Amino acid sequence: MHSALISLEKTFQPSTLTKVNDVLLEKHQVELWIKRDDLLHPIISGNKWRKLKYCLNHALTMGANTVISMGGTYSNHLHALAYIGKLLGLKTVGLIRGEAPATLTPSLLDMQQWGMELRFVSRSDYRLLRQYKQWNSLPNLTAGQYWLPEGGAEALALLGVAELVGEIDKSYDVLCLPCGTGTTLAGLVTAVTDNVSVLGFAALKNAGFLTVDVNALLPKLYDNWQINLDYHLGGFANTNAALLDFMTAFELKHQIPLEPVYTGKMLYGLYDLIEKQRFQPNQRIIALHTGGLQGKRGTLTPNA
Ligand SMILES: *Cc1c(COP(=O)(O)O)cnc(C)c1O
Repeated sequence: MHSALISLEKTFQPSTLTKVNDVLLEKHQVELWIKRDDLLHPIISGNKWRKLKYCLNHALTMGANTVISMGGTYSNHLHALAYIGKLLGLKTVGLIRGEAPATLTPSLLDMQQWGMELRFVSRSDYRLLRQYKQWNSLPNLTAGQYWLPEGGAEALALLGVAELVGEIDKSYDVLCLPCGTGTTLAGLVTAVTDNVSVLGFAALKNAGFLTVDVNALLPKLYDNWQINLDYHLGGFANTNAALLDFMTAFELKHQIPLEPVYTGKMLYGLYDLIEKQRFQPNQRIIALHTGGLQGKRGTLTPNA
C-alpha cells in the first residue's frame, strides 16, 4: 500500500458494530446490528473509502497525477474523491451529469473548493461514459491520467470492501446493504463465509441490470446474494413521508444518523421485510451503514 494512503487511513475512526434494540425485532425474534462505516471519517464517506482505497493505490503505483471520474450533482463518490485528492496532492476531475445548475449544490461547492475540476456533461454523453469500465479505457487519456468508472466500479474496489467483512467479530446469517452500482455488494459477496447470505436493497428504480453488473465485477459465480428491487420508493433519491417518518423515529431512538438515499431506504425496507416475516426466528442480521451523510443536504423534502 502506498505510504500516503497508509498515513491517511491512520486518521480514520473504527467502524463499530452497534446492536439495535427494538420491540419489532424482539417480536419477530431477529437480531440486528449496524456496521458503522459512517463513523470512519467525518468527510470521506464510508463505502467510498472502501472502494477507492485499492483503486487509488493502483493509480499512485502507476504514477498517476490526475484521477478522472463521473457522478451526479450530490455524488458521494466524487465528494470523497475530491477530498482525498486534496489531501494526497492528486489532481481530480469530475464529469458531472447534466447541465451546470444555476447554483452549485453544497456537494459540488465542496468538490470545487477542494480543487476538483468540474466538467458538466449532457445526460446522453454521460450515459455513453458508462461503457468505459477499465482504468485506462477512457478515450483521449493523457500520460498521468487515471480513469475511475462511475461509483468506482472496478475489480480493485472489491478488495477494500472485503476488508470490512474481516472486521466483523460476530457470527451472523444475513448481511444487508444498500446498492447503487452494486460494487460494494460484490466486494461483500467475495468475502463472507459460506453460511452468510448478502441482501442488497436497490436505491434505483428498474435496477434489474444490477444482476448483470454485479456478476461482471465478480471473479466467479456466487449464489450467496440477492438484490431486493422493491424499496426505491419511486426512484433514486426520491422520498416519501413514510420513509422520512421512519428515519426520524429511528434516529431519535437509536442515535444513529441516516440519510434517505441509501441507508435510510435499506433500513426502511429491512424493517418492512421483518414485519412481513421474511426472516426466520433467531436470524442474526448485520446491516451495513455505508455513510453518505453529506448527501443528505438537499434531499430532505418528500417528493413522492
Ligand atoms: C455510493 C453509495 C452506495 C452505493 O454503493 P455501490 O457500491 O455503488 O452499490 C451506498 N451507500 C452510500 C452511502 C453511497 O454513497
